[in-house]
Amino acid sequence: MAEQQGGSSSSCYDVAVIGAGIEGSATAWYLSKHCGQNVALLDQFSLNHTRGSSHGPTRITRYLYPQKFYVDMMLTAYPMWDELAQDSSRTLVRKTGGMSIIRNNDPELLQMKDTLHQLNIKHSLLTPDDINHRYPGLRYGPGWTGVFDPETGVLAADECRSAFQSECTKHGGALLPNSRVRGIRPGHDAVTLTLDDGGTVQCRRLVITAGPWSKNILAELGVQLPLTVERINVCYWSARKPGLYSRSSGFPVFIHHTGKTHYYGLPIDEYPGLLKLCPHHGKPISSPDHRDTSRDLTGVDGVSEFVKEHCPHLEAKPSILETCVYTVTPDKHPVLDRHPVWKNIAFGAGFSGHGFKLAPVVGQILSQLVLNRPSKYELAPFRADRFTARHYQPEQQAKL
Ligand SMILES: Cc1cc2nc3c(=O)[nH]c(=O)nc-3n(C[C@H](O)[C@H](O)[C@H](O)COP(=O)(O)OP(=O)(O)OC[C@H]3O[C@@H](n4cnc5c(N)ncnc54)[C@H](O)[C@@H]3O)c2cc1C
Repeated sequence: MAEQQGGSSSSCYDVAVIGAGIEGSATAWYLSKHCGQNVALLDQFSLNHTRGSSHGPTRITRYLYPQKFYVDMMLTAYPMWDELAQDSSRTLVRKTGGMSIIRNNDPELLQMKDTLHQLNIKHSLLTPDDINHRYPGLRYGPGWTGVFDPETGVLAADECRSAFQSECTKHGGALLPNSRVRGIRPGHDAVTLTLDDGGTVQCRRLVITAGPWSKNILAELGVQLPLTVERINVCYWSARKPGLYSRSSGFPVFIHHTGKTHYYGLPIDEYPGLLKLCPHHGKPISSPDHRDTSRDLTGVDGVSEFVKEHCPHLEAKPSILETCVYTVTPDKHPVLDRHPVWKNIAFGAGFSGHGFKLAPVVGQILSQLVLNRPSKYELAPFRADRFTARHYQPEQQAKL
């Protein structure tokens, strides 16, 4: 792998990407493989660190969204994940099937059904009896509907990130771990990055995908984004009958919608006998660097109540608690845009806890933005100025 150990370079890259999480790695891959660009991918830490949002063995992928623009993106993301898996000879996606379980009177149920129907996404509707019969590890009473999507599955997250990075190097990209960018000097033809060790990196164009560190980096460039960093409790629950919750017995990914938030579960995978079942919200923290200074349990009690009511064969207290961070926007949609002055700088941030599955398409969109090329995707929901612009409709808020 063409990995340099940080420091400076005298060459001028076509594009530098700050942040080697899943979004930056996908962007560097797309730029090098599909756009023939000479790319440098920088990260402040080692390439397999656990301090951002992209580490770990599993992430959910699904078509189950109420918004058409996400399903549209997923129609391209699925074949792109397959392309990456084939190129890198790795298993990246395991399809388990999955369902969103929503109250019958929640408007999101109708929106999701409409969207899946209009875009011809194969799906079926499950009654509580269907759910209980098919999946004895779950128990639902009247008033709920399961929207089942056979294409839902689990992405091998660490493998995905590493595959993007190694494929990027196959196409001439340079990986620069341990290269913390502490200064950016913009210019219309060239951008200079200053690193912690005093070295510099020159590039003609720049993409910033710095995850929970994005707010400060972008503020340095005059772009103020309402990004909140949340510390998320990642919980694993002991199963008294593990077979009921295993992939081999056909247990699916599931997303339980409460109306205000959701809880999501994956078939037993990373720890034997323990089901990953987590809240989709956490407590805001001042900085990703302070993630471990408190032992906050936001969301855990809610999931515990859910377990007591809906998961008859799980213990009602988690056996393992880990942490991760979300970077959240007010409407829960990411920001994918260009700098208002320096059009050779693009950025992607605020993935709000659901950006992993979208990464290949995010990489494509950020490549198109930074190279000033047209995009087939609906980008209005992702514009940086939507938080102030009049045309933005707050009722389009994502429920994810
Ligand atoms: C617990 C959890 C579960 C999730 N589940 C799902 C799921 O099931 N499905 C789904 O689609 N999504 C899911 N997500 C969301 C998804 O993982 C994130 O949206 C995605 O990983 C965000 O990636 P990123 O590249 O923007 O950020 P990050 O992964 O945080 O990457 C940013 C990188 O920028 C680097 N960086 C920052 N500042 C600098 C600097 N100055 N110089 C150099 N490098 C810098 C950081 O070191 C970091 O590596 C989940 C997230 C969490 C935390």
